[in-house]
Amino acid sequence: MAEPLALRAGTAGGVGGSASQARGARAGQVIGSSIAVRDAEKRYGHFHAVDHINLDIEPGEFITLLGPSGSGKTTLLNLLAGFQSLDGGEILVDGKPVHNVPTHKRGFGMVFQSYALFPNMTVTQNVAFPLRMAGVDRVTTERRVAETLEIMRLSAHANKSPSEMSGGQQQRVAIARAIVMRPKVVLMDEPLSALDRRLRESIQIEIRDLHQTIGSTILFVTHDQGEALTMSDRIAVLDAGKIVQIGRPLEIYRHPSNRFVASFVGESNLIEAEIVQKRGTTVTLKNRAGYVFDAESRDAIDVGRVTVLVRPERIAIHNEPTASSTPVTVTSAIFLGEILRIEAQMEGGDTLLIRCTDTARRPLPNIGDRLHVSWGPDDCWVLT
Ligand code: ATP
Repeated sequence: MAEPLALRAGTAGGVGGSASQARGARAGQVIGSSIAVRDAEKRYGHFHAVDHINLDIEPGEFITLLGPSGSGKTTLLNLLAGFQSLDGGEILVDGKPVHNVPTHKRGFGMVFQSYALFPNMTVTQNVAFPLRMAGVDRVTTERRVAETLEIMRLSAHANKSPSEMSGGQQQRVAIARAIVMRPKVVLMDEPLSALDRRLRESIQIEIRDLHQTIGSTILFVTHDQGEALTMSDRIAVLDAGKIVQIGRPLEIYRHPSNRFVASFVGESNLIEAEIVQKRGTTVTLKNRAGYVFDAESRDAIDVGRVTVLVRPERIAIHNEPTASSTPVTVTSAIFLGEILRIEAQMEGGDTLLIRCTDTARRPLPNIGDRLHVSWGPDDCWVLT
């Protein structure tokens, strides 16, 4: 009689056996592994692809590595998978170093951009493949494959070959194959980037639900900030081989740590301004146009020039001047369905991007129209 698969996957390679407590684990769920990356380093000559990275991932957490092309996301994932070796530092899974554990013994599930399905096998045979390789008996294999196809809503396609399926369906088969062993860790490298936007969005939700169902720790690589915001418990933003910020999606979006994160995650207006007064955490600022506004700041900045982030959807538009508004001239206005996207110039020359939801029922302004805009202290964030 085969032992339960969750246990088999968990002990593979001897790296996943500890009884770490997953947050909110349900009966029958895998308890994902904790991962600790300590001062990890990967060099190519003098170039640091991964530059002294530290990262602690909780059991069962969904972490996204987000960053532009070349920031080191795939290299970090490859170091975790064991496809590449560290030049410095260490990686611990459930507290145990993995540098001597070969990839196939780490017991991780993996999904890549290319589906890499076996073209001559049916969906069922593809998903059953890891179980067959692990020597799992036929009855358990059939049950586990049927359960996994059900989770991935693929049961109706069980006997098709990959060539008879769409890209989205093939990627769901690849995900099913990656989770059929109920691994304690699943690594996903840009798995949705070959799919069109609608399909990507629907599979994003499926992967989130899947994470809730299986309880594995998931590390997901993407350069798509929307994808990262939608799916993750926490996002690690990478730039030039370093983690520049790690936090929950709301925190990263509302309180980015610097200009790079502010610009990379979401659309942003970065306004240069001078501090004219400070009361506790509230600072009064004046920009080039002479517009005076209050902003919240966490840091002890007292004087001088700062950059302030104002998200385009936080800017209020008025037809007439108000006590707290400043005039702008419209330079572009586009109707995008649920929102109006307006670009306008402030008097000092700064360009503002404004996103106005259609619930405001505002007519599309004309180029050259004069509007009045304002934002409050909660709508902006002083960057360091
Ligand atoms: P993308 O989103 O484009 O896949 P990424 O963030 O995943 O980018 P990596 O593939 O991790 O980036 O690459 C990080 C850096 O390391 C890049 O500048 C890349 O050119 C460099 N690099 C990766 N592999 C090698 C290699 N074998 N030899 C030399 N440089 C490499």
